[in-house]
Amino acid sequence: MGALPPLYAKWLSEIIPDEIKGEKHATCDNCAMCSGSNAEAKKTIGFYNPLTKCCTYLPELPNFLVGRILLDSDPAAAFGKQGVEARIEAKEAITPFGVGKTDKFTKQYKDNPKEFGQNLELRCPHYIEEGGLCGIWRNRNSVCMTWFCKNERGQVSREFWKVMHEFLNVLEIALTHWCVLQLDPGTDSLAYLFPLSYDSFFPPKSTLEPEVYQQAWGKWLGREKEFYIECAQLVEKLSWQQIAEAGGVKLEAYRRLLEAANQKRNTKTLPPALYKGRFNVVLQVETSVMVSGYSPLDPINMPVALHDTLDYFDGKAVEKTLEQIRQEKNLKLSEGLVQKLVDFGILAEKKPEKDTPYNSSFGEL
Ligand code: SF4
Ligand code: SF4
Repeated sequence: MGALPPLYAKWLSEIIPDEIKGEKHATCDNCAMCSGSNAEAKKTIGFYNPLTKCCTYLPELPNFLVGRILLDSDPAAAFGKQGVEARIEAKEAITPFGVGKTDKFTKQYKDNPKEFGQNLELRCPHYIEEGGLCGIWRNRNSVCMTWFCKNERGQVSREFWKVMHEFLNVLEIALTHWCVLQLDPGTDSLAYLFPLSYDSFFPPKSTLEPEVYQQAWGKWLGREKEFYIECAQLVEKLSWQQIAEAGGVKLEAYRRLLEAANQKRNTKTLPPALYKGRFNVVLQVETSVMVSGYSPLDPINMPVALHDTLDYFDGKAVEKTLEQIRQEKNLKLSEGLVQKLVDFGILAEKKPEKDTPYNSSFGEL
């Protein structure tokens, strides 16, 4: 998906000065996972339902993002706002930490991994059917911001987005907690909220008994929307320095990892020696072979002649391998092409173990 949410873009510009582009092959307006005319490929690759795309998901929204959504007066954001208001009014998984997942959704999602991208019942309530758009696009969470079905640099890009997700998730949790402390719902409420909050914002059960709900909200009970709006306003004013302080050492660790992952994503360096990687032949026709390496969602098509050179990559120096292919196959492989095969996991720096599992997951947020 494309542009970053404005709040997150502002923070990220403090630590990664170059523009962070989305993945251009994940063409969400004309979903890359819903198109494709090749019936055989469609059967093998597993396309998504055009009525859901990859949005078979119920996002957990940190308190300050909930507030931003409630404050958004743009008519184009009205559907998303109504959906979030409906979730708050239903009082399912609603705490000062934000708006969480219902138990019903969590169970259905976990029990049906093959229905990702398929089942209309799992579709996000913020998905706008007309045009297949996201109703909370400008304030979507770190999961929705960093998930792409296709990555321009294959596993290198995917690794970058995974680290970005971890970084933003740490940041979301830290700021969520910070907001709760700033707006102090009372000691009873804190006693209820904080033992829950090691890795997730949300209690293990989404439906709280009325007295537990009352305890969770403390002196903000009955003013839940007001609370979320205050959180948004508090967070809006924070400098990066203040955010870094709230995030502590964990956020700093992920900031460093993110910097390194960004540098890797922007650098192309071929390893000195390469092996044929662990990949799956998805489809073979007379002139081409479709293979998937790092992800079954992102296969690549190659001419049969190129596919036939892969066995030459047996750990020798890349230069020697390319020369051998040139002499014996009369094929000159460019460094750019070899880099792409590495990025997509078709060639590997290390010899794959015989039992290295092939990644066969068709997605999951
Ligand atoms: S990220 Fe989702 S909506 Fe975008 S192209 Fe991929 S499957 Fe489609
Ligand atoms: S919040 Fe938006 S991007 Fe995320 S699942 Fe819902 S509709 Fe899709």
